[in-house]
Amino acid sequence: MSRERQRLAISRPKQGAAGKTGSWRLCRPVVNREKCNRCGLCVLYCPDSAMDADIEVDLEFCKGCGICANECPQKAIVMVPD
Ligand code: SF4
Ligand code: SF4
Repeated sequence: MSRERQRLAISRPKQGAAGKTGSWRLCRPVVNREKCNRCGLCVLYCPDSAMDADIEVDLEFCKGCGICANECPQKAIVMVPD
């Protein structure tokens, strides 16, 4: 990796008080455990680090963006109205 590349900022989503979801989330992800193969892609793609290694969603931080559902290769996540 070049020196210039090493200086670039790396975005690291992080939980924090400022990242808590207010009352504005419109929908939330629900994981179908029978379809899920625990590949971890949803955890990787969640921009708010709202999913843990057990594929549990922390609704204090989930924004309801649906990226996890969109990226799941098993179609194991559905977004439901909150
Ligand atoms: S991306 Fe889908 S299959 Fe992979 S861990 Fe998440 S819910 Fe399970
Ligand atoms: S809906 Fe968005 S914020 Fe919530 S767990 Fe999925 S990717 Fe993360």
